[in-house]
Amino acid sequence: MIATKRRIVIQIMLAVVVGVVGVFVMKRGQCRVDDSNGLHERRWLSMGTVARYVGRGSSRHDAANAEIVKAAFDEVEWDLSVFNPESAISKLNEEGYIRLQVCNDPCEFDFLKVVSFAIEVARTTEGAFDPTVNPLMRIWGFRKDTVVVEAPSGEMIDKALAAVGFGKVVISTNENGMAEVRLGNGVELDLGGIAKGYAVDLAYERLKRSGVRDFIIDLGGNIRVDGNPSKDRIFWRIAVRDPADPTKNTGEMIELESGEAVATSGSYERFVEIGGKHYSHIIDPRTGWPVERGGSVTAIAKSAMEADAFSTAGFVAGLESGIIKGKLMDSSRWLSRRAKWENLETRR
Ligand code: FAD
Ligand code: MG
Repeated sequence: MIATKRRIVIQIMLAVVVGVVGVFVMKRGQCRVDDSNGLHERRWLSMGTVARYVGRGSSRHDAANAEIVKAAFDEVEWDLSVFNPESAISKLNEEGYIRLQVCNDPCEFDFLKVVSFAIEVARTTEGAFDPTVNPLMRIWGFRKDTVVVEAPSGEMIDKALAAVGFGKVVISTNENGMAEVRLGNGVELDLGGIAKGYAVDLAYERLKRSGVRDFIIDLGGNIRVDGNPSKDRIFWRIAVRDPADPTKNTGEMIELESGEAVATSGSYERFVEIGGKHYSHIIDPRTGWPVERGGSVTAIAKSAMEADAFSTAGFVAGLESGIIKGKLMDSSRWLSRRAKWENLETRR
């Protein structure tokens, strides 16, 4: 992490902006404390989306637990946000390399773990999931520095694609406990499809180490649960948003056991409109085009980082594809409950 005066000023400015937006959100009635079943919910904004902590402690304990979660999210956002030019990942994208101390378990914050796992998923999915997608995100208008009024030309897509590919990221470590991540020419990382899940896992581990039990952590639909929702129930029941009408749920309930995580990927919330057409924020790195399929893909896994990456990968490749069926679903580590994955087929 980079401790500079500038960083502190930016952090204060961000805190003020988030605070102002937060007050606005609360005024709009979105800050809800739900005490049904003895559970209390706290909401705030993080990483451009809504964060939630649901617990069963006293109000004072829940507030303290929510602060632990918030601090973990803030740390991840500070290092992994491509929306912040001062973040470690923005610096890596600019300079083409970063040197880090290898982190031993238990690890406070593990940049290398996120990047290495993103590359592993990219390899397993033959590039359907690819953390080097940033140049494509830019030409399709998903970054503040570009306003897109017409769909990029084939030439622009080819140029961006030349800088895309997980094989262009080299991670090396040496015997002194140092690691280096080096990017090929023009290559830029975007961990938007995995970092929210990692943040949820980081917060989860910290709460567990503090002895907290029976809670839900949610960051924009990347959810991990612990313990039991009540004395007589062992599964937490999570509703899935209806991609055809995101104001409603599909009616299906996902049941999660303690420690499990779920994530859903789709295009219904985040897209750009170019010439009256919606283009998804999830881009197929093999073609350079936003994914056209409708619906959503939900993944259940043993960690939120896995669920996050798998749902994005599943949305790009499609559940019917050989990549998903042949590799992802057959791997015991990949999905904890295959049946759930199959039931939640992509909906058009
Ligand atoms: P997912 O399916 O989990 O991920 C989709 C995202 O992954 C895309 O938005 C893109 O970033 C990336 N991606 C696209 N195609 C692929 C692919 N084929 N393979 C791999 N990755 C792909 N948004 C804001 O508006 N303002 C912010 O300040 C902001 N800050 C953020 C900070 C951090 C640290 C992170 C991780 C995200 C931030 N976001 C911000 C982004 C926003 O929350 C994203 O839209 C979000 O990460 C997408 O997540 P999702 O769960 O909707 O979709
Ligand atoms: Mg994801």
